[in-house]
Amino acid sequence: MTFEKHLIVKSMFNSMLLLIEKLQTEMDCINFFIKQRWNDKVECPYKDFKHKGKVYEFKDGKRFQCSCCDRIFSYKTGTLFENTKIPLKKWFLAMYIHTSHKKKNKFNAS
Ligand SMILES: [Zn+2]
Repeated sequence: MTFEKHLIVKSMFNSMLLLIEKLQTEMDCINFFIKQRWNDKVECPYKDFKHKGKVYEFKDGKRFQCSCCDRIFSYKTGTLFENTKIPLKKWFLAMYIHTSHKKKNKFNAS
């Protein structure tokens, strides 16, 4: 399976400031992540299985089921966050610190 991991992360970096200001709870982060990833139209990540099925959202807002292949996936499936139990909020914060630190170093070097 191939996923657009780098694209997802890049677009998240661009929105990092907004993220820190607006995302207070883990669910805020999840909703934000879903919007970044799918732009409100959740798609089945199992694209090796060619179909155009409908995707149903679970009540928890974190999981989805594809009506075509019946597979259940979460907002994390196929992303860098797939195999971690660390909350998104911590990841976002860590990435924010990492990117702002990088920028600072670049500025000092010039
Ligand atoms: Zn599917």
